[in-house]
Amino acid sequence: MSSADNHVIREFRSPGGRQDLLPSDRDGKECGALSPGLLSEVNILSGTASTFELSHGNTLPIVARPFGMAHWAMQTRDGTGFFFHAEDPKVQGIRLTHQPSPWMGDYGSLLLMPQTGPIVLAADQRGSCIRREDSVLGPDFMKLRLLRYQVTCEMTPTERGALFVLDFPRGAGRNRLIIEPQKGDSEATVLVNERRVVGLTRGNSGGVPANFACYFAIEFDRPVVRAGTFVAGKPTDGLHASGDRAGAFVEFEGGSVEVRIATSFISIAQARLNLDRELAGRSLPELRQEAAAAWREVLARIEIETGNAEWRRTFYGCLYRCFLFPRMFHEFDAGGNMVHYSPCDGNVHAGPLYTDTGFWDTYRTQFPLLNLLDRPRSAEMIEGFLNFYREGGWLSQWSSPGPRGGMVGTHAEAVLAHAMASGITGFDRETAYAAMRRDCMEIPDRAKVGREGLRDYLELGYVPADSMRQSASITLDYAYDDYCAATVAEALGHKKDAEILYRRSQNYRNLWDTESGFMRGRNRDGSWAPFDPFEWGGPYVEGGPWQSTWAVPHDPQGLIALAGGREKFLAKLEALLATPPHFHAGTYTVEIHEMTEMALADFGQYAHSNQPVHGALWLYTLAKAPEKNRHFVRRVLTELYSSGPRGFCGDEDNGEMSAWYVFGALGLFPFCPGNGRLVTGGLLFDRALIRPAGSPEILVRTLAEGTIPKFNGRPQPDFEIRIRDLLEGGTLEVPAL
Ligand code: CA
Repeated sequence: MSSADNHVIREFRSPGGRQDLLPSDRDGKECGALSPGLLSEVNILSGTASTFELSHGNTLPIVARPFGMAHWAMQTRDGTGFFFHAEDPKVQGIRLTHQPSPWMGDYGSLLLMPQTGPIVLAADQRGSCIRREDSVLGPDFMKLRLLRYQVTCEMTPTERGALFVLDFPRGAGRNRLIIEPQKGDSEATVLVNERRVVGLTRGNSGGVPANFACYFAIEFDRPVVRAGTFVAGKPTDGLHASGDRAGAFVEFEGGSVEVRIATSFISIAQARLNLDRELAGRSLPELRQEAAAAWREVLARIEIETGNAEWRRTFYGCLYRCFLFPRMFHEFDAGGNMVHYSPCDGNVHAGPLYTDTGFWDTYRTQFPLLNLLDRPRSAEMIEGFLNFYREGGWLSQWSSPGPRGGMVGTHAEAVLAHAMASGITGFDRETAYAAMRRDCMEIPDRAKVGREGLRDYLELGYVPADSMRQSASITLDYAYDDYCAATVAEALGHKKDAEILYRRSQNYRNLWDTESGFMRGRNRDGSWAPFDPFEWGGPYVEGGPWQSTWAVPHDPQGLIALAGGREKFLAKLEALLATPPHFHAGTYTVEIHEMTEMALADFGQYAHSNQPVHGALWLYTLAKAPEKNRHFVRRVLTELYSSGPRGFCGDEDNGEMSAWYVFGALGLFPFCPGNGRLVTGGLLFDRALIRPAGSPEILVRTLAEGTIPKFNGRPQPDFEIRIRDLLEGGTLEVPAL
């Protein structure tokens, strides 16, 4: 039984039976009988029924523009990163959030809550219930009826702000909007005559310079009749407050109030500029249409034809999550120049910046998908990642907003190499290589950048288990990252580097233990570390030997040979899927949520709830057993994913788990980001049309006969296709899943 069991789907049909109110901007004729309103397929509550103990996605119901700097989500509970749960009855406010994951925490957060009657400042005491059937929840628009206060709140996002329309009861006194930073030193100033509130919050979860702040400017279209301020939930005198969670409230006569809010990481003046540019003089229907058009454009990059309504909802819900992160962090100054506050050095610099992504997760599927669907945006993202290197000296691995560290490997190499192998241009390739080279060759000068344990890795060919935890996973990741850097060195003509790095990419061999048949931790003196095939942690990260042994994406034939050849390797894959999902907590000492999720999914030791196994099913194809790949991929797609609040079997992780679904369902998979190829699988749908921005369309359909995939009529007997060929456009034929 999977965590995406059916009773949940019944309970959580798309909220409020949302109808798309706007006319379609496309007719969908190109791919048969397609629904006109792809937006109406997206349930933003997908994955949001999650807790610390058990993740069904650990997502937020985000209302934002694609890759928008400002995300907006309901807050239903206080405290930690787990501030929303789909089953909570009450809403405490609409939250400006920049949280990529509850495990990373939020920064620059601000809660807006309309209220009538006596003032109640405490979030946990002022919540109002809502009816799902009264609510409209879409990526482009949110409408809530706050029953306790008889207020209707509608909002639509811009890239750096939002327009709210609050409909207060007419004739009632004390109609109010509470503006409350959620964490940290803050400031709020009410400018009654100007009908404005401006302020800032320094709240963050680390990874920022001391001068970090999220600035906001809010403007009302109606006179402010009364206002006040508060600090840490306690009222203060005057119209300016500063201190812990310093906020403000403003009151209006009854009726409808338009609230325009814009944010900036540069200054209040820049926030006001963003407000003038994105929101001034614009109406809710106008901005909503713009937001809807932005979402339709990205969702329409893949159109699918299927009679299965739940698969459609799951697919487009996943596609929505592929276009939320990484977050645009740049703004446009008074002269219209792109600039950004640097979370590395605290200064303002020219050019783009994108943040809030963990490459350990997202290099695998999400960036390859973005590289396929949106080449201009991908180039801008890479330029943004290179700005981390220019401003902080190192590429980021987990950024939120500055470098935070957290997982293992230096997978910026994979992200950059894959973009280059996909023919993405428009960024400085030599700077990209210099940044990658630094990761591969230079001992880091501080924590959370570069490669921990690099000195040992260079000397021994592996990171020793008796010196560093997670040593086996780290070694395997460094070997793969070396391969990625080698491909770029080779492409740019750095021959000597390429030779060294290709040689180093074979270091995975140093950890293969023939006796146990697993990758294994190795001590400095060459002896093996203690071993238990079911124990998590120790030399492995967020998994044990069963989950971590497959991490050789750049040399699957080498791995197959180490395992004793094709037959033995296939038997090992069978065992991965057939061995009961038990585990020992190991050095984690307690059961972490990924262990719980593996046990609940009941998919053997194949823990789809977390990234380490995410390429494993394609090893079947590369070991020439593609029918096994199709069998299990279909099971994962249909048993472990759904469109509802329990729609994922573990952390969604900023588009990674979603992009796995998108690729898996289309019959293509980036098994080795960086090598320039996709592995073919089977198609879940009747047909699919991929429309990459700026390159020709690719129709994916099922083979009329046989099982060897074909591209433009040419058989692809290796079950791989070059991305550059795919981008020429045409017809890809694969078996049905
Ligand atoms: Ca994960």
